[in-house]
Amino acid sequence: MSDAPVIEIRNLHKAYGSLEVIKGVDITAPKGCVVSLIGSSGSGKSTILRCCNLLEDSQQGDILFKGEPVKWHGTGHGRRPADPKQVLRIRTNLSMVFQQFNLWSHLTILQNVMEAPVTVLGRDRDEVEAKARHYLDKVGIGDKADAWPAQLSGGQQQRAAIARALCMEPEALLFDEPTSALDPELEQEVVRVIKALAEEGRTMLIVTHDMKMAADVSDHVVFLHQGLIEEQGAPDQLFGSPKSERLQGFLRSTT
Ligand code: ADP
Ligand code: MG
Repeated sequence: MSDAPVIEIRNLHKAYGSLEVIKGVDITAPKGCVVSLIGSSGSGKSTILRCCNLLEDSQQGDILFKGEPVKWHGTGHGRRPADPKQVLRIRTNLSMVFQQFNLWSHLTILQNVMEAPVTVLGRDRDEVEAKARHYLDKVGIGDKADAWPAQLSGGQQQRAAIARALCMEPEALLFDEPTSALDPELEQEVVRVIKALAEEGRTMLIVTHDMKMAADVSDHVVFLHQGLIEEQGAPDQLFGSPKSERLQGFLRSTT
């Protein structure tokens, strides 16, 4: 099973009540690969990410983590993950970075990065602190360890959120529009960190509106339209010679 993809979703279906938003989607993120999800607002990108780490229920289809299928209990709208230990294992191994950073304002940057490894994983505090400082250095804000989130720029806060995700030492990172709350000049400092992570062979699933970043960092790009994959492929192919008219129109609208 060692070469199984870190994340695999097969024929995923998800509805909010009677609103069907994911209508049979397959996505695979092999180890060391970066897969980007692009598409218009409302096409289902965030929902797919949230289904992957089981923050959201889904009604049909399989979700596999390193070849291990999620065990379900019930069917359709009653379907829930059956094994809380499996849910915890998957969630702690797929660390999510959100558009709005979601740092805890009452904790320092260092405390933010240390919180989950200490409280959720039960790791030794001193070891976690050393790791947290290492990851803060890595994202270029080692000097902000004792600052409060409100004292940091948006780009610095997002880099802190990335350090926090890394400190969980997850199998993969999930990014939901990591740069879209940032001013263009701050966006670049976050893009540089994500690029460096891609270069060191991290497995990542990235939802982004930044087509340049998607083209630069991805091994595979998936274009979603109304809950279905409209087109997918290597970035050169997808951005260089898009086949579907919808993708062509979408790419025109984003440049
Ligand atoms: P994207 O991230 O591509 O913009 P989303 O996954 O957020 O798209 O949303 C897909 C669809 O699901 C949209 O029509 C959205 O309005 C709907 N949706 C998202 N979250 C909820 C929710 N909690 N309750 C009801 N509908 C939702
Ligand atoms: Mg979204």
